[in-house]
Amino acid sequence: MYKISLITGDGIGPELSESAVSILNTIHDKFDLKFGITKLSAGDKALSKTGNALPDDVVSAIKQSDVCLKAPVGESASDVIVVLRRTLDLYANIRPAKSYPHMPALRDDIDMVIVRENTEDLYTGKEFTLGNAAVALRIISEAASKRIAKYAFETAKQRDSMRKVTCVHKSNVMRMTDGLFAKACTDISKEYSDIAFEQMYVDACAMNLIRQPEKFDVIVTTNLFGDILSDESSQVVGGLGMAPAANIGDNFALFEPVHGAAFDIAGQNIANPSSFLLSIKMMLDWLGNKHNDSKCIDVGKRLESTIFGLVKNGVKTMDIGGDKTTSEFTKQITDNL
Ligand code: ATP
Repeated sequence: MYKISLITGDGIGPELSESAVSILNTIHDKFDLKFGITKLSAGDKALSKTGNALPDDVVSAIKQSDVCLKAPVGESASDVIVVLRRTLDLYANIRPAKSYPHMPALRDDIDMVIVRENTEDLYTGKEFTLGNAAVALRIISEAASKRIAKYAFETAKQRDSMRKVTCVHKSNVMRMTDGLFAKACTDISKEYSDIAFEQMYVDACAMNLIRQPEKFDVIVTTNLFGDILSDESSQVVGGLGMAPAANIGDNFALFEPVHGAAFDIAGQNIANPSSFLLSIKMMLDWLGNKHNDSKCIDVGKRLESTIFGLVKNGVKTMDIGGDKTTSEFTKQITDNL
């Protein structure tokens, strides 16, 4: 049995979590893949109830589980996810952007993955005031940069695609920090002679994601740039409602949608649960590889093809041009799995 800790989140988080539990229960019943789910509260609700967005007992419960699923949290997101990424050393944030048929997408020929460094950069929260100015420290270390570069090349190696890594930075302006990142990636690229390597400034990358996204395979970049570029790449293939993400460390992993709590549509039963359910697909891949469990990988594939089979047949939620509610779409998946 795999022990899953589930942060139910804020905004549309509880609706997506309900959908996730329903899918996990169906997988449990239909494929005899056993899960023990512990629901946890972290985020805005936990903050107003306990004074702490990420209570200690929640962190302990996550550490005792095999893997964590996290629905989006609201205003306190950085006190939850940024802290968890650092505490659990989940250094690689993986955000795939893949075209699937019949999506209201800008392009239908995209298959890329953004590998974002997850523990450093401007997201360490080291900010202070200096007179009338506010200062944020941007920390980029050689060790973390080489570690993420290696992860990106290993990712490229395992993909059946063009096998290319694009290192994205802005070293012409941030010469020391991004200069170090670019050099670390270049150094690691020499260990992977069979994988093409290129560098691109972040502004050019933002433009090329619209202009010629088919040219990208694996993008490796720093924390803030990766956050922004992955929202952009998910829009190119159909929007945030379809965008999953993984936070991976050497021994533990946490899976979550790319998007935030989307308070504008919360409580209306109209959110697209696919972002979270495709995160479950990524979780099943990770569990399968870690535990040498091919059933996990097979069921993950089946979940993904079920979701895209429905979308292909016009069974979809409003954000991608359909009329199904969150619960109706979830029910269709459980019926079709
Ligand atoms: P954050 O900064 O926390 O990532 P954000 O301000 O970027 O949050 P999101 O919550 O990520 O905002 O979402 C942006 C918009 O995309 C939402 O307002 C919502 O309309 C839409 N959206 C996001 N997720 C979904 C979803 N699962 N289903 C449908 N629409 C969504």
